[in-house]
Amino acid sequence: MHKYRIPFNIPYLAGNEYAYISEALEKGHISGDGSFTMRCQEILKEQIGVKHALLTTSCTHALEMMALLINIQPGDEVIVPSFTFVSTINAFVLRGARPVFIDIREDTKNMDEKLLADLITPKTKAIVPVHYAGVGCEMDAILEIAGEHNIPVLEDNAHGLFGKYKGRNLGTFGCMAAQSFHETKNISAGECGALLINDDAYIDRADIIREKGTNRKLFLRGQIDKYSWADIGSSYLPSDIIAAFLCAQLEEREKIQTLREKIWKKYEAELRDWAVVHGVALPQIPDCCEQAYHMFYLILPSQELRAALIRHLKARDILSVFHYVPLHLSTFAQQYGGKPGDCPVTEDISDRLLRLPFYNALTEDEQASVVTALKEFDWRAS
Ligand SMILES: *Cc1c(COP(=O)(O)O)cnc(C)c1O
Repeated sequence: MHKYRIPFNIPYLAGNEYAYISEALEKGHISGDGSFTMRCQEILKEQIGVKHALLTTSCTHALEMMALLINIQPGDEVIVPSFTFVSTINAFVLRGARPVFIDIREDTKNMDEKLLADLITPKTKAIVPVHYAGVGCEMDAILEIAGEHNIPVLEDNAHGLFGKYKGRNLGTFGCMAAQSFHETKNISAGECGALLINDDAYIDRADIIREKGTNRKLFLRGQIDKYSWADIGSSYLPSDIIAAFLCAQLEEREKIQTLREKIWKKYEAELRDWAVVHGVALPQIPDCCEQAYHMFYLILPSQELRAALIRHLKARDILSVFHYVPLHLSTFAQQYGGKPGDCPVTEDISDRLLRLPFYNALTEDEQASVVTALKEFDWRAS
């Protein structure tokens, strides 16, 4: 694979990763729920303000746990944006759910809350908002509609760690939320995730499902004298080696977020006028949102211009990438009757969105080079 001078993403080391991994090895506890797992969970609980936080092997697995916890059954309907990663819906489809795709808003690329009421049926068992690029969905409206119908809201907060909506942390709005610490996310451990729980009713069973369906946690606390099979479940807890890596990053969260904020704001300031001249739209952050600085994207005037711009940047050894292909148009979604026109904004945005290089260690020179390359693009020749 070609190594770009300026790639799209580079994994980041915050500093203490090796030391903490050594410490985990020396302690002799490298399976799940060791001391680093506890430290990570404490940080998430305190910083986000949730009742319970459980590290999981991935965000995908946190979503799968949610589907198990709300007892998704074959034929149940789950409302998700078409403009998201497959795991947002696959976790529910694994339990037999039928996806109901909702279109996005032009400004934030988040689920369009105005379309929600019309998609709800007696079979709707969950609404799963995705805070795209770490910008909060319109949670007041979503929670109000969900509340009227008594439908659980489950947040896919893979992009939104430490982002806020109306002053409140993303991840605290739904009865549960899923975080990702995949290599491409702001804070990472390669492959890792977390399940955040805000509703007490799910806490005990979440511990059991995560521990292969056993009540091992009660046993470890001395509350029962042997542990046994208590429920369905799987192996959703990461090794403490992974948690050690994650802990080193979570402890440096302020530094990481400050780096990303600076990069984001520089792109915005440098490209604002250029974008207006060429009919390019930049990300729009509603006043009520404090974003998580997960990504910086451009919306180009057409798919052809996007392809030409990708080629132009590649010729300068810079990798820019597009993002989600609409899920309702995927081959797998054909069985649910997905067809062009179902989610027109998603279809349009998906063709025109381009993500720029964005990683914690992106230097000022590298970023200046991306900006210069963009400004050198010849719009007429394309
Ligand atoms: C990255 C991502 C996921 C999956 O995260 P993993 O930790 O890789 O399982 C799910 N949803 C969204 C929106 C994501 O961006």
